Amino acid sequence: MVGQRNDQSHPGQDAPTQDRNPQQALLHDTDPSLTDAAEVAAALGVDPAKGLTSEEAKRRLEKFGPNELAQAAPVPKWKKFLAQFKDPLVYLLLAATAISLVAWFIEKANAAPGAEGGEALPFDAIVIVLILIVNAVLGYIQEAKAEAAVEALAQMTAPTTSVLRDGKITRINTTEVVPGDVIVLGEGDSVSADGRLFAAASLRIAEASLTGESVPVGKKPDTLAEAKALGDRANMVFNGTSVTQGTGRAIVTGTGMNTQVGKIADLLSATEDEKTPLQKEMDYVSKILGVAVCIIAVIVLVALAVLEGFHDIHDVIDSLLLAVSLAVAAVPEGLAAILTVVLALGVQRMAMHHAIVKKLHSVETLGSASVICSDKTGTLTRNEMTVERVVTPSGEVALTGTGYAPEGRMVGVNGAQLEGAEALKNEALATLAVGALANDGDLRQGAQAGSWEIVGDPTEVALIVAARKTHADRRLSQFHRVAEVPFTSERKRMSIIARDEAEGGLLTVFAKGAPDVLLGYCDRISVGGAVRPLTDGDRQDILATVERLSGEAYRTLGQAYRPLETARLSEVPGIRANAAGEVSDIADQAEVIERGLIWTGIVGIIDPPRTEVRDSVAEAHRAGIRTVMITGDHPLTASRIASDLGIIEPSGAALTGDQLDQLAAQGDQAFDQATAKTSVYARVAPEHKLRIVESLQRQGNIVAMTGDGVNDAPAVKTADIGVAMGITGTEVTKQSAKMILADDNFATIVAAVREGRVIFDNIRKFLRYLLSSNVGEVFTVFFGVVLAGFLGITQPGSQGVTVPLLATQLLWINLLTDAAPALAMGVDPQTEDVMNRRPRRLTDRVIDRQMWGDIIYIGLIMAIVTLIGMDMHLTGGLFTDRSVDALGHEAQMTEARTMGFTILVFAQLFNAIASRSHLQSAFVGLFSNKWLWGAIGVSIVLQLIVIYVPFLNSAFGTTPLSAVAWLECIGLAAFVLVASELRKLVLRVMAKRR
Ligand code: ADP
Ligand code: MG
Repeated sequence: MVGQRNDQSHPGQDAPTQDRNPQQALLHDTDPSLTDAAEVAAALGVDPAKGLTSEEAKRRLEKFGPNELAQAAPVPKWKKFLAQFKDPLVYLLLAATAISLVAWFIEKANAAPGAEGGEALPFDAIVIVLILIVNAVLGYIQEAKAEAAVEALAQMTAPTTSVLRDGKITRINTTEVVPGDVIVLGEGDSVSADGRLFAAASLRIAEASLTGESVPVGKKPDTLAEAKALGDRANMVFNGTSVTQGTGRAIVTGTGMNTQVGKIADLLSATEDEKTPLQKEMDYVSKILGVAVCIIAVIVLVALAVLEGFHDIHDVIDSLLLAVSLAVAAVPEGLAAILTVVLALGVQRMAMHHAIVKKLHSVETLGSASVICSDKTGTLTRNEMTVERVVTPSGEVALTGTGYAPEGRMVGVNGAQLEGAEALKNEALATLAVGALANDGDLRQGAQAGSWEIVGDPTEVALIVAARKTHADRRLSQFHRVAEVPFTSERKRMSIIARDEAEGGLLTVFAKGAPDVLLGYCDRISVGGAVRPLTDGDRQDILATVERLSGEAYRTLGQAYRPLETARLSEVPGIRANAAGEVSDIADQAEVIERGLIWTGIVGIIDPPRTEVRDSVAEAHRAGIRTVMITGDHPLTASRIASDLGIIEPSGAALTGDQLDQLAAQGDQAFDQATAKTSVYARVAPEHKLRIVESLQRQGNIVAMTGDGVNDAPAVKTADIGVAMGITGTEVTKQSAKMILADDNFATIVAAVREGRVIFDNIRKFLRYLLSSNVGEVFTVFFGVVLAGFLGITQPGSQGVTVPLLATQLLWINLLTDAAPALAMGVDPQTEDVMNRRPRRLTDRVIDRQMWGDIIYIGLIMAIVTLIGMDMHLTGGLFTDRSVDALGHEAQMTEARTMGFTILVFAQLFNAIASRSHLQSAFVGLFSNKWLWGAIGVSIVLQLIVIYVPFLNSAFGTTPLSAVAWLECIGLAAFVLVASELRKLVLRVMAKRR
């Protein structure tokens, strides 16, 4: 396996032999893990300190192709278009059309020359085929639109990688990484190519995806002495793995298909999108309707045969066409495409408001969220940290100035004088100096004068700003950092070791962290320039101060230090070093560094809550959604901010990580009881997040959970709606999330939930609309045939089958005049306060019993008014005293059908207005959806065309209508709106009674 030649040629990567590219030369002739890093760099033509130049990177990108695994070829457009016809009903319809075509030919051939030989053209067949083509085109366009929206979302969430280019670290799209690039790895990054490490600090990488090894493996740049299996190549990093800890740099040796995963995967077939619960329910509804209509069709056919008898081939074909179009009429075939488009549009709208949803499916889940678990810092608060207080053993000072501008000074608290308080001032300066040293942040002058740019953790930058304000950092340049034990959410502290150049290179530890945690590693305290042992009294004082500051919403950080009294790290007692006296994995030796520390003081940092969050929390609460804060901060800081934001009552307390551990030991039940009530968790570690999610889910909640660090990924993945931070989030977390918050703001989550509910409501609106149309058509045809004699839908003169409405007319309604209003309803502005009701349970049916009631009620009304309208224009039946007798049966029937056809179309337009709300009168916000009125206009124009264009008259069996007839049509159709208003009125009254 090792050093194996890579004989397969990969797309875009086979280079001619005379121009052997560096990547291939390296991969074919040497194993980078057995080669010195400098040699690898030379072979790949890169200076590890500077990286590639951007021109060279561009050249290589062209040569080697993008860094991505080959995908199965995309489906060609014509195939996608043909797929629109892939529907059993379309097959049926086409079969029926073929039969009618044959019948037309037979008739044509048998007719005597010059005699009436049927129609001049096979109109039915032509019209049906044309309508099917138009429908396929519309479906294709809608599908393409939805795909484009999904693609745009994918672009927004495309993974990125930090590389060294032109001597600077830049973040680029992962697909642009080329062989020879220097990738810069940090905690939470995903490794985007195979590479040879040349620098690493406490680097650990999770390689489970590649090797199956579940524990992250330590990585070192040392050249291997012998070839090893993948999982043991400690100086290599591999595509598809992720950094769980530490930092490192590697030279890319292979990209895309030329990586180890590329070799395994070889061909990643495009993953078929799983159907969402909504789509599944739609399939189910279609199936039910299909079955129901087959039964109805059989009844109608039998009724026709019994009542009227089939006399010639025409009768048979007409009946067959009727049966098939009944089926087509009943099944909402435009629905799937409209559904996707509406979801895609909604998701686009959400993206504009900073909530980037990765899968259309998540929109449904979002609307059902019942608990939102959120980080505190940066999500509920602004993450704009300012040090306001410094408390030392000798007292307390305040710092003036807000924001990151290093302008301000040290003053007494409550007007106290600082003059003469030299001990206090010196202690405060020493505390701030420690904070500035144990620091990975950076403060830079912004592009505009007076503006400041922060690099790194805002908590740390706040300490730099404070040190600058007070000039506590004046003599810090004499310290040179030699090692760091990094901050993690579990440890809640960090420390560095620095060499003091002014003191002969002696080493000192500088540490900062959560005061209650850090205090546990201190045994001395610095007071008035002298160091003395830390007493229990000191500890109590310090913890009391922490509680006081936390109660005032301050984020607190303790500072401490320890002179190591040696210039050599390897001489520190207890430390592990190699034979050469080098200490390479200091991060794993925290216990020998962070001990016996000397306490200097506490800083109090203010991080103001986001003002808009208070309203969002209240809105979520109204919507039956609980907001839960989860933070690593002090319980009092957490509960103070939580109560400021309305998440808990002012008296409410937080549950800490330690308490959660105790509860977990007592079993799930105790844990669940606690999570059912608790809304603030403090001093927790990421692993607690996972347990909280699981516990809430056990109680039937739909949980949204935010996260940023690598360790949050499991919780984010487990949550129903994993939410990653767009700004502070790590790559790994973003990949496990279902939604990314571009602005890291809690308010955006609530807005997304609202949007999710609106979209879901709109889907229900157009479902109600489309299905009642289908039901109306089926009833019209069914009763039109069954009650034909009673209504006068007969042709007394010429024996035979009389269908109330023609198949082509039904298709026209279903596929054309219904489509635009349905789409417009999908983008309806919210009609009811969607955040005024409890979340929908995911198991609830989209179309519930009440909605079916609505659909059948409206469908019945539609059928009744349609049949009455027809009856009024026919001899016999209920309304017989009409002058149309003179017209003759054929023309009479055509006029009656045109009436029925038009009434159905207009009834649907009134229904569109009515369907916008389930309870509220249609007249509330009647004109708020401009699209809907536009769509209604389109449908009216379509109807006018089909009635007044002579060619279409013969094609659709229509005839121009008189003004009176038009009035009758519209008047009858309006009954749908009246009936719906009545029903809503009754429902509203009933709802009030309850
Ligand atoms: P959160 O992100 O929920 O605010 P963190 O895990 O960042 O919580 O922080 C937990 C605690 O760790 C903080 O209250 C603070 O005392 C301490 N802390 C935070 N950031 C740092 C840091 N960069 N270095 C040392 N200690 C820190
Ligand atoms: Mg944090």
